[in-house]
Amino acid sequence: MRLKIAILAGDGIGPEVTNEAVNILRAVAEFGGHDFSFVPLLLGGVAITATGSPLPTATLDACLESDAVLLGAVGDKKFDALSPDKRPEAGLLQIRHALGGFANLRPSIAYPALSANSPLRPEVTEGADILFVRELLGGLYFGSPREWNKSTGEAWNTMRYTRAEVARVARVAFELASKRRRKVTSVDKANVLEVSQLWRATVTEVARDYPSVTLEHQLVDSMAMHLMNIPRNFDVVLTENLFGDILSDEASIITGSLGMLPSATIGGAVNLYEPVHGSAPDIAGTGKANPLGAILTAAMLLRHSANLEEDAAAIESAVRTVLAGGHRTADIARGNAAAAGNASAQHLVSTTEMGKLVHQALAQSIDQRQSMHAV
Ligand code: NAD
Repeated sequence: MRLKIAILAGDGIGPEVTNEAVNILRAVAEFGGHDFSFVPLLLGGVAITATGSPLPTATLDACLESDAVLLGAVGDKKFDALSPDKRPEAGLLQIRHALGGFANLRPSIAYPALSANSPLRPEVTEGADILFVRELLGGLYFGSPREWNKSTGEAWNTMRYTRAEVARVARVAFELASKRRRKVTSVDKANVLEVSQLWRATVTEVARDYPSVTLEHQLVDSMAMHLMNIPRNFDVVLTENLFGDILSDEASIITGSLGMLPSATIGGAVNLYEPVHGSAPDIAGTGKANPLGAILTAAMLLRHSANLEEDAAAIESAVRTVLAGGHRTADIARGNAAAAGNASAQHLVSTTEMGKLVHQALAQSIDQRQSMHAV
């Protein structure tokens, strides 16, 4: 398999965690005989320093010529005085917009080894493995008319969807569910909003093409409760833009650390992969950044842009193995000593050490797989 991957490491801890993710992708290429090439490009604060623009044209052009884009994080206090359209974060919004992905995928997984890191009790989070599919280009954030009329003291936004916009993101959710536990929970507010009635009718119609997948509808308010009560009941959760923004952040506490969360935005010209966290200036350069969110993001890239499901699963399993072995970056160290009843069960590791441990666990699991195939 040949894959050209644009690397936008960005600012702060972005380069530190992206470096570990790229090492893992290199390992997958080497073990599997793939030809992956990595194209480092400027985005965010580093791009402003070098070129004056948070998204240089050269970066955008090269991304559009790639098979996938892997982003670290952007944001640097140095540029806080600039107007919002010139800051590092503007580059992020521009690249997301230019790549045009309409489906944002965000997993929320309870890792047994991290069960004490979540504010939810372990018996609540146990077994939770949710994939959010959030519509990203429509709804309240983009609908017009929108205005804040300061003279009349009124403001309004418009939640608007077309049937086609709902159907295309629903198909993504059903396709993904058919490769998982075959359940889609569609979230809306159909008891109040017409746009949600269109959403529900369209999702129900699309579901007819996926008879092996169970569809349930949940109102967004009760969904907010169910997610915290019985998260293991959900497989793929399909939402419009605003509801998904809120619910996927709520569900992230199931995992327990921002540093553990990957994401993908698919369906546009080129898929975009980025950990959920920002540039974390408070820990940049200290070796404390957790690279697992970025490494799990690389796994999503292999699954959704290269169809390398076995390799994606091997990376995810290597992450579980390393966590089960007690290895922790600082953000996930707290809490678990109490759970294990033994502080020495944990080993505090740096960003690069964590990357190496995942590399080792991955090498072992791929070795085992290859020897099984050889038998
Ligand atoms: P942040 O995600 O950078 O950090 C929030 C907290 O989580 C900090 O205490 C940080 O140390 C910790 N944290 C984040 N990622 C971590 C990791 N991998 N390992 C260990 N700890 C981690 O959010 P913020 O502090 O609100 O924003 C900092 C900058 O990042 C701002 O400039 C913001 O605009 C930008 N930002 C960028 C993105 C992105 O690039 N996708 C997302 C959010 C924020």
